[in-house]
Formats: sequence, structure tokens, C-alpha cells
Amino acid sequence: MHTFDVAVVGAGIVGLSCALAAVRRGLTVVVVDRDACARGASVRNFGLVTVTGQERDSVWQRARRSREVWLEVAHQAGIPIVRRGLWAAAQRPEAAAVLEAFMGADTAAGCELWSAAVARQRCPELVTDRLEAVLWSPHELRVESRDALPALAAWLAREHGVDFRWETAVLGVEPPRLDTSRGPLSAAAVVVCPGDDRVSLFAERLAAAGVGRCKLQMLRLESPGFTLPGTVLSDLSLIRYGGFAGLPEARALRQRLQEQQSEYILHGIHLIVAQGADGSLVVGDSHHYASADEPGLDERIYALLLDEYRAVTGREPPAVRERWGGTYAVAARGAVLIEAPLPGVRLVVVTSGVGASTGFAIGEEVIEELFA
Ligand SMILES: Cc1cc2nc3c(=O)[nH]c(=O)nc-3n(C[C@H](O)[C@H](O)[C@H](O)COP(=O)(O)OP(=O)(O)OC[C@H]3O[C@@H](n4cnc5c(N)ncnc54)[C@H](O)[C@@H]3O)c2cc1C
Repeated sequence: MHTFDVAVVGAGIVGLSCALAAVRRGLTVVVVDRDACARGASVRNFGLVTVTGQERDSVWQRARRSREVWLEVAHQAGIPIVRRGLWAAAQRPEAAAVLEAFMGADTAAGCELWSAAVARQRCPELVTDRLEAVLWSPHELRVESRDALPALAAWLAREHGVDFRWETAVLGVEPPRLDTSRGPLSAAAVVVCPGDDRVSLFAERLAAAGVGRCKLQMLRLESPGFTLPGTVLSDLSLIRYGGFAGLPEARALRQRLQEQQSEYILHGIHLIVAQGADGSLVVGDSHHYASADEPGLDERIYALLLDEYRAVTGREPPAVRERWGGTYAVAARGAVLIEAPLPGVRLVVVTSGVGASTGFAIGEEVIEELFA
């Protein structure tokens, strides 16, 4: 039996990031996924590589490195970067105070804080009477994940000789042996990147680390007929992203939103509006924490999201093209879980919903440590 240097379990963004880091070191790689192509969180997300507003130590640094890798890989693999930049619109004085405080942080380098008057000049279509200020960041990238992930996998196979085994479940891992639903494989090292699957491999480890699951609701709207100046965030995002939410000024905003938008907070809703190459808008999201993924999608959550869209843009939302749900792994501690359940095995789970923004950096860290 041929022995690979590395076997990667899971062909989501985290698994592909580990595969990329491994081939960049000259290692031979097999990637095994139980689905026929990536179907998990990595193709259900906004496709947003978010840098600004990420919590400094655990996420922002990794997001900056991942952004660099995205730019290299997108160019080489022919993955379009469909949009750039972030437009965080403050609708309340308390939100403007958070943005002002954020501008004093080193993580704000390259960002600009605009008054409503300046913002109106930059994008008149998005400015409402309620607008207090806009934080504009040039750092964010957006890819269309449903196209980007297959393109990334195809490029890894074509240009780097990565061997993909689709529709193959990994049932057991004990290097150099992997037991799969299509027979054994052999690899000197194994990186397990199972996303929010907490039961198939190393279930006790994941349970001990308190890994759970978060469900999110998303929708795609038709084009509004103009180009957004960047991915749009609302006040609610400023109490979710750690780089904003950790500021002392966020306390007053949280209190104000609790008074005015308690139902949003109950459902973990904040507004992200990310535009595609065809002008369509991916809009989300909500956050519900439970081990089981409830099958239905709640229409009340969609109504709240569309109301927030109205409040931030001052416009009627375009027609809904599509609705979907997604899940990702969460844990109370840390943005990423990296464990060594056996010699030569690493278990890697992004536990904070930032895998598209941090995956490439995490892949490099894991492979570097494993082969140092
Ligand atoms: C709605 C939504 C919006 C999001 N928005 C963003 C965003 O804008 N920016 C951002 O940075 N992050 C975002 N995220 C989070 C991000 O998508 C995830 O952190 C990331 O995709 C996790 O990648 P992954 O590879 O770990 O998991 P996944 O993409 O879920 O992949 C795991 C893979 O492992 C496979 N697998 C598991 N167990 C086995 C096994 N035993 N054998 C074989 N195969 C197995 C599965 O089939 C799956 O393909 C969002 C997530 C969601 C759901």
C-alpha cells in the first residue's frame, strides 16, 4: 500500500488549508471526505475573510496571514476575489463611540472613520438619516465559497498532486493506518479537520473540550442595483466581533441594543450584507447553540434580518433568491482547538465561526508544528 506523508480528514477550508501547507513543504498528501464535495460550513458561509474587528491575539493575527495566503492562492487557482472592504455603519451614538475607540487600536491600521456627510459622498445609496458614522476598512476579501472551495480542491489536485478520496468516511485513525469506508489508507501523519462532526472521530476529546454546535440562518437577495462599497455591518455586529465588543465603549452599546433590539440578541442576530460578483447579496445571520441541528428554518429570524436591512440601508430589500442554514463548531474557550490525541495525529477544529478568515494560518501552524 502506498504511504502518504500526511492524510487530512475533511475537505472544508481547514482541511484544505492543512493540505496546502503540507504540499508547500514538499509532503505527499491525501484528503479524505465523506461527501462528494465540500458541503459543510465552508460552502454555507459568507465567503468573507474578515480582518478588522477580529479579536487581536487569537484571530486578527491569523486573519492577516490568511488574507495574504488567500490573495496568493486566489491568483494561482483562478478564484475570483469578488469584493473587498468593510462598511460598518453606526446607527446609534453608542455605536459611533465604539468605532471611535476602535480607531485608537493598532488593529485599526489602514481603516478610516467617516462622518455621515463623508459616507454620503462615498455611497449615497446606503446613507440614511439615522447614520452616525461609518468605519471603512480596506482589508476584507470576499470569495463565493461555493465556487472557491471546489476550485481550491481542484487546484491542489492538479498543481500539487493532492490525492482526493471523496465519498469516503474515515472510521478510525491510528497512524500509519486509517480505516475508511472504502478500505485502509496509510499515512505517516494524520490531521483530522472534521468541522462540527463531534461523534465520528475522537468524540471523547471533543466532548472534554466542550465542543458544541451553532446553527445559523442565511439568505441571498437579488441585486439591489448598485455596488456596495464593502461588506456592510450594523450596530449589532459591534457587540459580536471581539475587536469591537471587547472595548469598554461596547458596554453602553450592548445596553442600548438590549433595550431596543432584545429579540435580535435573543436569536444572536447581527447583520452582514456581502455582495457577489453578480450583484446579489448574501445576508445573515443568527446564532443558536444546540448539539442537534434543528431541521427547520425560522421565518421570524428572516423577518428580523430583513428589518435590520431596511434600517441600515433605508431601502426595501430586493427579492429573496435563496434561503439556507449552516452549522459550525463552537467552544466556550478559544477560537481554535488543536490537540494531539495520538502521536502523529492532530485534531483541528475552528470553534468560533471564523474558519474562512483564519484557516490558512491555522493550516500553516499545524503542519509546521507537526513536522518541525
Ligand atoms: C452560515 C455561516 C456563515 C459563516 N460566515 C463566515 C465568514 O463570513 N467568515 C469566516 O471566516 N467564517 C465564517 N463561517 C465559519 C466558517 O465557515 C467555518 O469556521 C469553517 O468553514 C470551518 O471549516 P472546516 O473545514 O472546519 O469545516 P467544514 O467546512 O464543515 O468541513 C468539515 C468536513 O469534514 C468532513 N468530515 C467530517 N468528519 C469526517 C469523517 N469522519 N470522514 C470523512 N469526512 C469527514 C465533512 O464531510 C466536511 O466536508 C461561517 C459559517 C457558517 C455556517
